Amino acid sequence: MKQHHYQALALVATFNLMSCATSKVQTKDSQAAITPQQAVATLKEGNKRFASGNSTHRDLIAQAKKTSSGQHPIAAVLGCIDSRASNELIFDQGIGDIFSARVAGNVLNDDVLGSLEYATAKAGAKAVVVVGHTRCGAVGGACSNVKLGHVTGLFTKIKPAVRKVSANPKVAHTGPAFEDLVAAENVKEVIAAIRAQSPVLAKLEKEGKIVITGGIYHLDSGLVEFFGQN
Ligand SMILES: [Zn+2]
Repeated sequence: MKQHHYQALALVATFNLMSCATSKVQTKDSQAAITPQQAVATLKEGNKRFASGNSTHRDLIAQAKKTSSGQHPIAAVLGCIDSRASNELIFDQGIGDIFSARVAGNVLNDDVLGSLEYATAKAGAKAVVVVGHTRCGAVGGACSNVKLGHVTGLFTKIKPAVRKVSANPKVAHTGPAFEDLVAAENVKEVIAAIRAQSPVLAKLEKEGKIVITGGIYHLDSGLVEFFGQN
């Protein structure tokens, strides 16, 4: 009799394991409860899961239904359009978890800035995270002075980072390693520009209501290397 009971329990356990896709989503309460530092830590933990092949198994359509009447994302991520650098995937986040702004070279413009201000000041996100990546085509194009239609103006925004890294006599001034240094410098410049160009975001950060941080996503390892303490 007892053995049957255990067998039944084992069956239930197996069934639960098979159907354990999470449908949990961020709520008004969970967003309110999380600190800016915890929001960044959540992304870091998600990236570790992604890089180790342990991304969360999600019931995305259940999450879509749960968030259809409202969203309470914990962070706004500005990343590149690169097909290999999806913000949601590399941070292992689901539906309704993060705002995602993507533009080639993760550059800043007024509309992106407006999006980040909306995400935080209006929609409650606790962190702004700028993520560049290795082997970035936009950064490579800016380094080699590619000119084409609207691309020219976009790449101009990456030029300050190219000039800054080029001024360093200790590094090679061409090649993939140089371009990755420019990608990292570009993230730092974008973070500085966010603070300089958006009094709204600068104030939120000063008041401790948000964290503004960033890093570089390594295509080969799947890891995001964050800059600084945050
Ligand atoms: Zn890119």
